[in-house]
Amino acid sequence: MDIRIGYGYDVHRLEAGEELWLGGLLLPSELGAVGHSDADVLLHVICDALLGALALGDIGQHFPDTNSQYKGIDSKKLLKATWNLVKSKGWEVGNVDSTVCLQSPKLAPHINSMRECIAGILGADIDQVSVKATTTEKLGFVGTSEGISAHAVVFLKKG
Ligand SMILES: [Zn+2]
Repeated sequence: MDIRIGYGYDVHRLEAGEELWLGGLLLPSELGAVGHSDADVLLHVICDALLGALALGDIGQHFPDTNSQYKGIDSKKLLKATWNLVKSKGWEVGNVDSTVCLQSPKLAPHINSMRECIAGILGADIDQVSVKATTTEKLGFVGTSEGISAHAVVFLKKG
């Protein structure tokens, strides 16, 4: 059996008056993430982890922020397109593990809906998709709510 692992990391600035899209969901929040797309940092790191697993570059190369086609785009479409590329090469998801770093709001009530959304896009079961959340104890750009970051690893298998 062929196996691959991939890793993704991403950061977005937070600002008042922006929407907070995370894991494919629009969350109630005073601050939202700024970006060329809908700025869904969790879906972006999963895209990057999938691309990284196959050494296919990164999300910025596949969906450049200089292209108006991607302005305000729903990141679920970016993840779907990324997944279709990976799937077309014969790979299946083993599992996805991710951590979102955000001071507030609390993500616990939304975690399962995010997992369901991501699993749905990847054609995986919810128990193959882990989403975790942490504050950074008020330290750094996450702790001061200047930004949101996320990390993800994916395991892919074939044959
Ligand atoms: Zn991003």
